[in-house]
Amino acid sequence: MTTRKVRTRIAPSPTGFLHLGTARTALYSWAYARHHGGEFVLRIEDTDVARSTPESVQQILDSMHWLGLDYDEGPIFQMQRLARYHDVAEQMIAAGTAYRCWCTPAELDAMREGQRARGEKTRYDGRWRPAPGRVLPAPPPGVQPVVRFANPAQGQVSWNDLVKGPISIANEEIDDLIILRPASDGAGTLGVPTYNFAVVVDDWDMGITHVFRGDEHINNTPWQINIFRALGAPLPLFGHCPIILGEDGLKLSKRRGAVSVTSYEEAGYLPEAMLNYLARLGWSHGDEELFSREQMVRWFDGSHLAKSPAQWDPAKLAWVNAHYMKTADDARLAGLVQWQLERRGVDTEDLGLLARAAALFKDRCATVAELADWVAMIFVAVPPKPEDLAAHVPAAVVPALRSLRERLAVVDWDKAALAAAMKETLAAHQLKMPQLAPALRVLVCGRSQTPSIDALLALFPRQTVLERLQHI
Ligand code: GLU
Repeated sequence: MTTRKVRTRIAPSPTGFLHLGTARTALYSWAYARHHGGEFVLRIEDTDVARSTPESVQQILDSMHWLGLDYDEGPIFQMQRLARYHDVAEQMIAAGTAYRCWCTPAELDAMREGQRARGEKTRYDGRWRPAPGRVLPAPPPGVQPVVRFANPAQGQVSWNDLVKGPISIANEEIDDLIILRPASDGAGTLGVPTYNFAVVVDDWDMGITHVFRGDEHINNTPWQINIFRALGAPLPLFGHCPIILGEDGLKLSKRRGAVSVTSYEEAGYLPEAMLNYLARLGWSHGDEELFSREQMVRWFDGSHLAKSPAQWDPAKLAWVNAHYMKTADDARLAGLVQWQLERRGVDTEDLGLLARAAALFKDRCATVAELADWVAMIFVAVPPKPEDLAAHVPAAVVPALRSLRERLAVVDWDKAALAAAMKETLAAHQLKMPQLAPALRVLVCGRSQTPSIDALLALFPRQTVLERLQHI
């Protein structure tokens, strides 16, 4: 057990958007730190220089911000810490826990070929590893050495995984991993550390006590634990969360639907729904399905994390989102609808109107995008379908619609006055509401199902309603 202050981190690589799986481990790391009154760090693992981009960094920051996963430190960029990795590598070389290796790529290929031919597992054979009494060849000229970790040759690496339970791997199974590569130009600038080394130096320097990450890293953990031990650094606890499966049971991936956090923002999901859904996808607190961020922080103590992969379920996410839509503040929804409309080329400054529309429609919408679908009809006419006209606007109601139009040209423009105008029209034409309302819905909104017609019409500018009733 650790007595250190709880510090967790999320360490995305900026080689693409923030993946849902990473967002979920970020959430667990964040909630764990908050639960324990600890701290949460954002580290950008940008050592894959060729694939890292500033746009991706920005998207990670935006996604964290949107989800409300606030961090106490960071973003810390690994590429700004190269000198530190070099210092640690030098210390390890001096201590005999790391060594330089001058193997060329061609030599390594030949080594692997030979191993394959003999039916052995391919691995680095330790030819530059110093050992008592062993005489190493002179470094070949013109070859830039890498630094390798001298992994313990015997024994087991064991840890009690916070998610998977006890895990143990024989050191014989793992070879001497490269921890530092030479600078590509060979001189002057500093070379780049490999993931397993940078992550340990960072987790050590940043005082990380608990590491939650995807279980694709489980095979890296033995090396990391050995490096921590070689450095005399305190070990964090590790929790490896299973991958998220797509609806088809295969790993959730770009090819099989949206996997970036920002795409859900664009599709009109609310961050609190996303957090709730992501949290539940791989963690449970009794039978609770709907819970707030505060409840999650109260409950999330690192236990009850699922050992087996969870399946992404868009219908459930929509259900969770619909719940939060119902309780969302109308003024807030107005701003979100405004953004959705803007993306569709509909600009409006009338946030009051959008808030009233949100109040009227939000109960029947799973997402803000659906809400925007409703609201858009106020700004952009939806031409009625011929079959709707035939079914809902029979010749018998046309005279009533015409006289209603005349009334609407002069009545006060509010729900009560509109209701009264419709009532008078019905009485004058001896019709019932179920005959008039669907006709109005089809003509004004282009659809036959809507919330109550008087409240609905009150949202529209008078002129718009009159125009849409003009051609009857
Ligand atoms: N950069 C690694 C990734 O994005 C971080 C893994 C870790 O959390 O150690 O997968």
